[in-house]
Amino acid sequence: MEMAKESKGKELQEALTHKWDNVWEVLGDKEKDRVFEINEEYKDFLDKGKTEREAAREIIRVATEQGYISIDEVIEKKIKPTPGMKIYANNKNKAVALFVIGEEKLEKGMHIIGSHLDAPRLDLKQFPLYEDSGLALCKTHYYGGIKKYQWVTLPLALHGVVMKEDGEKIDIVIGEDEEDPVFFITDLLPHLAKDQMAKKMGEGITGEGLNLLVGSIPYKDDEINEKVKLNVLNILHEKYGIKEEDFTSAEFEVVPAGKSRDVGIDRSMVGGYGQDDRVCAFTSFKAILDVEKPNKTAVALFVDKEEIGSVGNTSMESRFFENVVSELIYLTEEDYSELVVKRALANSWVLSADTLGGFDPNYPEVLDKMNAPFIGKGVTIVKYTGARGKGGSNDANSEYLAKIRKIFNDNDVVWQMGELGKVDQGGGGTIAYILANYGMEVVDCGVALLSVHAPYEIASKADVYMTYKGYNAFFNA
Ligand code: MN
Ligand code: MN
Repeated sequence: MEMAKESKGKELQEALTHKWDNVWEVLGDKEKDRVFEINEEYKDFLDKGKTEREAAREIIRVATEQGYISIDEVIEKKIKPTPGMKIYANNKNKAVALFVIGEEKLEKGMHIIGSHLDAPRLDLKQFPLYEDSGLALCKTHYYGGIKKYQWVTLPLALHGVVMKEDGEKIDIVIGEDEEDPVFFITDLLPHLAKDQMAKKMGEGITGEGLNLLVGSIPYKDDEINEKVKLNVLNILHEKYGIKEEDFTSAEFEVVPAGKSRDVGIDRSMVGGYGQDDRVCAFTSFKAILDVEKPNKTAVALFVDKEEIGSVGNTSMESRFFENVVSELIYLTEEDYSELVVKRALANSWVLSADTLGGFDPNYPEVLDKMNAPFIGKGVTIVKYTGARGKGGSNDANSEYLAKIRKIFNDNDVVWQMGELGKVDQGGGGTIAYILANYGMEVVDCGVALLSVHAPYEIASKADVYMTYKGYNAFFNA
């Protein structure tokens, strides 16, 4: 009698077709422990950096502890960058570049991972404080792409810097300590919301209506008006030594109050504010901290203003990064030439590290299930971010995609391909196209989240870990 053979079709199917892995199903116990450990660090990073300034400060603090020296010091002391040297550059306290000098010359190109530190939020206007009907409020102007209705009726914290005329800088954070008061934006009671509820979702709450409730006790004096506003100003003056005019040279950001948390009975996810894009900032930061003497110079770039189109001198569009590379080449080469800078940039490889929307079973209609990224299936590679004919997207070259795929596969990185929404649904941009202008090979590669740009976003801990692992492999390739 003949033995039952495994069907030929099944064998062929296994050899030829591809299925994306679920990270949790392929991890060994030891590595699973690492996933949870790293996510404790991640939550701490999120809590310490709820604004671009705070995140930049935390990156520089830890980098300095780990032996990174400032580019200013390198320039001043004319230190020649040698393999293994760790250097940081601070761009106006809002953006940072970290370098680990490689064995190969800079001219041969760098391995760059670029993320952004800014996140959608509400900014106080420059003349914000007013009193109306016995309440003190602050006017805001939202920053980045928000759904306005998400920002009412939740506890909010104020993070800001006040620059006084004499140059004194005052850092203010109110609403993060358990003992602190928080702030709030009101919404209409349902009983009286008949007209509001009939409006389109995008119109129910207006930008000019996002006014922050900050006080209600009048200053005790019968001779004056606007007593509640005065009382608020008086408290600010007593606590921080500031007056109303100081708001004009201040940057106050209103963000959801409180810490990031584990989500799910199995603690498999992280919920928290600003994970777009601090999840990629954290994972690339941690990845470069583990790099000692790479072949190609490793660069972790953390930029600002991505959420408003990468404009301004702290954004990816600014010449900051190019200038720092020029300084390094000037210190390295006997004969400085701009041509060497151009070669160094053009020969570089980039992972544009940003988030995208993961497949959400509550909203299956906006994503193509075959090409959407899934939470828990690892770091996502995104060939193009555009929509409707790939408009405005950095469409990565397949030559380069093959190299990244090989790096990930060789290093047991669980990865998936993803696109940002159905063809005609919408889309979004990243910093990818800006670096691509130098001739660099660039591909978007980051973490898929649920509820992107909401006050509270969700990431899979498995993806945070795999992204760190993938970024580290890229730096060391
Ligand atoms: Mn982003
Ligand atoms: Mn974003």
